[in-house]
Amino acid sequence: MSAIVGQRDAGVLFRFKDRLPVTDATPMITLGEGSTPLVRSVRLEEAVGCEALYFKLESCNPSGSFKDRGMVVAVAKALERGDTAVLCASTGNTSASAAAYAARCHLRVYVIVPHGNIAEGKLAQAVAHGARIIAIDGGFDDALRLAREITQRHPIALVNSVNPHRIEGQKTASFEIVDDLGDAPDILCLPVGNAGNITAYWKGFVESYQREEATKKPLMWGFQAAGAAPIVAGEPVAEPRTLATAIRIGNPASWEGATNARDESGGDIRAVTDDEIVDAYRRLAQEEGIFCEPASAACVAGLLGRAKDGEDLAGKTIVCVITGNGLKDPERAMAEFAPELHAIAPEVSRVEAEMGL
Ligand SMILES: *Cc1c(COP(=O)(O)O)cnc(C)c1O
Repeated sequence: MSAIVGQRDAGVLFRFKDRLPVTDATPMITLGEGSTPLVRSVRLEEAVGCEALYFKLESCNPSGSFKDRGMVVAVAKALERGDTAVLCASTGNTSASAAAYAARCHLRVYVIVPHGNIAEGKLAQAVAHGARIIAIDGGFDDALRLAREITQRHPIALVNSVNPHRIEGQKTASFEIVDDLGDAPDILCLPVGNAGNITAYWKGFVESYQREEATKKPLMWGFQAAGAAPIVAGEPVAEPRTLATAIRIGNPASWEGATNARDESGGDIRAVTDDEIVDAYRRLAQEEGIFCEPASAACVAGLLGRAKDGEDLAGKTIVCVITGNGLKDPERAMAEFAPELHAIAPEVSRVEAEMGL
């Protein structure tokens, strides 16, 4: 594979073309998405008590989240059909990703976002790429309802994960994990919001098993934020609340995909509190060197919680999906970690004193 990205021989469409809806007419676009690192834990593995714990760093995708894997397929298929515009509802990362690929492919891009509920970094990405932002006085679920209706009325491609091409692209992360480990892990942990990703990972692992690239399928352990846990509760949440904005969703579009993944794998979908999320967010940053979004930390919080509750994980190989980059939400990091800074005189002795030397 060439190291030069942006040509026809790189990215998710190229690497997995035989397992994606790629035809001779599909433009082989890429921003270098996919082929993300699978990094072994150096500290938390011991706290979990498993054989091996890995982090799949989806934060290393071009726009900083896993959304790029599905978006590259959705945008390629929109181009193939002759669409000239794309639209999504977004808690942030979908819009950042859609805007990047649309800019690259000269498509117009519209995003409908819940006003005041988007992390600043994500909005910055969307506007930098030239997206037309429509802020609504409502939540993500309202935004998605509107996006669906508008794309039915106009020749504009809907690029939310209700678009099956998004799921197809996102399943490729499972292929990579199987490739890197030489088999499927025993357990896959990931945060669940609109539930497209858990649906996609499960599809990918089932396909790897069917192709005999894996000898087993993992248990799918999904985690929702306690204030936004409709699947755990078994009913939609009218006013979802959590600081993990990427999973602040009250009525997941891929609800059935998520419960299928859970039940067919023998897995589970549980809730974690915001305090547990922040604790895992801090530990990932300070003990593993991984700066992720609060939503990403939810799966690590959940795994740590289950280990603490006495779940026996000895002998298990576990992968946690780090869905998005911490730089997208710097305000959260500053709120959690930043000390009060006061400037001191630029003198060696003062700096040494500050350093505790
Ligand atoms: C979109 C997103 C999620 C949730 O994924 P779903 O497919 O909606 O369940 C989690 N974390 C991050 C960082 C995201 O961008």
